[in-house]
Amino acid sequence: MSKVLIIGAGGVGNVVTRKCAAVPEVFTDIMLASRTLEKCDQIARDIGDDRVKTAQVDADNVPELVELINKFKPDMVINVALPYQDLTIMEACLETKTHYLDTANYEPKDVAKFEYSWQWAYHDRFKDAGLLAILGCGFDPGVTGVFTAYAAKHYFDEIHYLDIVDCNAGDHGKAFATNFNPEINIREITQNGRYWENGKWVETKPLEINKPIEYPEIGPRDSYLLYHEELESLVRHFPTIKRARFWMTFGKQYINYLNVLQEVGMTSIKPVNFKGMDIVPLEFLKAVLPEPSSLGEGYKGQTSIGCQIRGIKDGKERTYYVWNNTEHAAAYRDVKAQGISYTTGVPAMIGAMMGLTGKWTGKGVFNVEQFDPDPFMEALPKYGLPWHEQIDEPLPVEK
Ligand code: NDP
Repeated sequence: MSKVLIIGAGGVGNVVTRKCAAVPEVFTDIMLASRTLEKCDQIARDIGDDRVKTAQVDADNVPELVELINKFKPDMVINVALPYQDLTIMEACLETKTHYLDTANYEPKDVAKFEYSWQWAYHDRFKDAGLLAILGCGFDPGVTGVFTAYAAKHYFDEIHYLDIVDCNAGDHGKAFATNFNPEINIREITQNGRYWENGKWVETKPLEINKPIEYPEIGPRDSYLLYHEELESLVRHFPTIKRARFWMTFGKQYINYLNVLQEVGMTSIKPVNFKGMDIVPLEFLKAVLPEPSSLGEGYKGQTSIGCQIRGIKDGKERTYYVWNNTEHAAAYRDVKAQGISYTTGVPAMIGAMMGLTGKWTGKGVFNVEQFDPDPFMEALPKYGLPWHEQIDEPLPVEK
């Protein structure tokens, strides 16, 4: 019996709204609000359930958010707008005494840098207000944190090596498109890589380290070492980790396009003056690229995301690999979305369900690996994300 306000009517917002609407026993009232009202209305019309209300909101504007929250009175806000809006939405939740969940950590618009410090700084204020904030509850971050917590709870005394592997072996038929918000995606890929080793961060040039990694049902794919936000929280919450890395696959064509765009300056976030107007090249690029939500129809192939772990159990070395594969076409059949939006939106709904049904409790700001992984792992296959595990087999990332 809960009311949720979902903010952001993009690729992920569509999935979260449909998935919440499909669980009426938990989500009794749903509002989808975003910058462009028509996108909310379109999704609500498609769902065709009068429990789904819509509204226009500028999530950069705290008073506007507060007014909307006070009017609708949700128990929780699910933030699937952009990382730029995390802090304004958290402020509004504090002011209105509302629980909070998001899928990506805060990033200032004018610096391509993401880290948890800004959101972790809200811990005491959420704690004092008796509120729960769940950070990074998509797939990665999100399920990857739950996978790691599950491994730590059931299979390891100490985790020593963690490799998160993220493969998209899909084909959307477009020459160049990103699977989630192009601006955020390109900022993430074009910045320096980073991984954790022996108590410190090791920095690499963008996409400098790469190798083929074998993915279940897919085969080998070129995988690139990137910095990814869950590394920061996982090495903090599992301090036995000696090395933590994140790998993502990219095709040759994608990298070629990205290199050209970078070399001609189109990925820059520094404004340029054009005909008397200041334009941010990356924002302009986003405007001409396909929207992530438009890629679903006809998208073939699958994604495979998982955690490959080496550590110690009862004094013996152990390996563990846990993963999910998602077919883009199956995601489209289920909720008219491509696999990346799907693998993000389903966990966001499940995380909200965990918080609203009291399976995950706490006062303050938490990353997903801090909660009991079991009820979340149980819910994943039920809502569309089956997972598989392999114990004491050679890890593909180490081959
Ligand atoms: P989209 O660009 O498709 O959607 C973002 C939506 O947010 C758009 O509808 C946009 O409105 C809306 N929005 C942007 N700014 C504002 C604002 N100021 N006020 C209100 N609404 C706003 O992105 P995705 O759906 O692909 O991604 C959503 C979030 O999910 C991002 O934060 C992304 O980083 C995260 N993500 C997390 C993943 C994970 O595994 N953890 C994986 C993939 C994504 P408009 O339509 O008007 O532009």
